[in-house]
Amino acid sequence: MPKIHDISLTLTNDLPVWHESRKPEFKRVRKLEDGDIANVTSMKMSVHAGTHVDAPCHFLKNGDSAENLPLEILIGEAVVIELPEVEMISAEDLKQIKIPENTKRLLIKTRNSKEWEKKPKEFHTDYVAILADGAQYLVEKEIQLVGVDYLSVAPFEDLVPTHEILLKAGVVIIEGLDLSKVNSGHYQLYCLPIKIAGADGAPARAILVESP
Ligand SMILES: [Zn+2]
Repeated sequence: MPKIHDISLTLTNDLPVWHESRKPEFKRVRKLEDGDIANVTSMKMSVHAGTHVDAPCHFLKNGDSAENLPLEILIGEAVVIELPEVEMISAEDLKQIKIPENTKRLLIKTRNSKEWEKKPKEFHTDYVAILADGAQYLVEKEIQLVGVDYLSVAPFEDLVPTHEILLKAGVVIIEGLDLSKVNSGHYQLYCLPIKIAGADGAPARAILVESP
């Protein structure tokens, strides 16, 4: 059996979320112990909570929404690279790491992933993200999907350029990955965002399968 790495965050009522968002809320509304015929949980959360995919309309006025995210890009061979020392990911950092030729899907493991191991409860703004020139470089390299290990692909102080550059070029963005248990290398990525009409993003389960 191939080894499967679950790189999704576990959704809980405590999970850190974007600073303006409310925490996810999962609530048992029917309970066997109360005599109901089944347990039923209801949920209330931002589509950008936990591991999720950004839809183009998150930052682009006429951009497409979550139900049309391209599955052929969300599934397939992916490369994980590690940039453990980098504070902000620039074009220069990406050049130096020498992304393998023909990479279409790139997941970037940074010091952010270590933070998930500590089961944090609070959002923090000093996460590692991709600078605008780094995003431009990825577009030039014809990357079709980029995954990052904190809740935004862009620096907290400069959210628009990185998102715009990537989304305008049709690059699919996965945010909120936990790459703490995977090493750099080649894998098969499966990431399936839930199908929400008109939404600017969608929570997803993401896994990496080791190539035999
Ligand atoms: Zn997002």
